[in-house]
Amino acid sequence: MIYNTIDEFIMDAPFYCIPYDFKSLCLHIRYPDLYELSDRYNDKMELLHILQDEQNFKILKNGKIIFYETSIPYGMVRCNNCGNVWDGNAQCDCF
Ligand SMILES: [Zn+2]
Repeated sequence: MIYNTIDEFIMDAPFYCIPYDFKSLCLHIRYPDLYELSDRYNDKMELLHILQDEQNFKILKNGKIIFYETSIPYGMVRCNNCGNVWDGNAQCDCF
């Protein structure tokens, strides 16, 4: 998956691939009605910095973020929220 900017990543990326320390920042930005929202520029830059060191991510010079999602076996689904891979017959128990 490719995200053009850090903002796009924060808005659209599956929740499980957001680093743990940034999940609340992500929620703040996705649901500005629920939370007080300031610019958070420094937080976004820190997130970008951390993604740079993550195995599954590549940050291009133009700011694009590439997320390499690991493949899952046929017939299995991945929970968008926690990243668990399971057979999809019931809702993931993370909720
Ligand atoms: Zn889950």
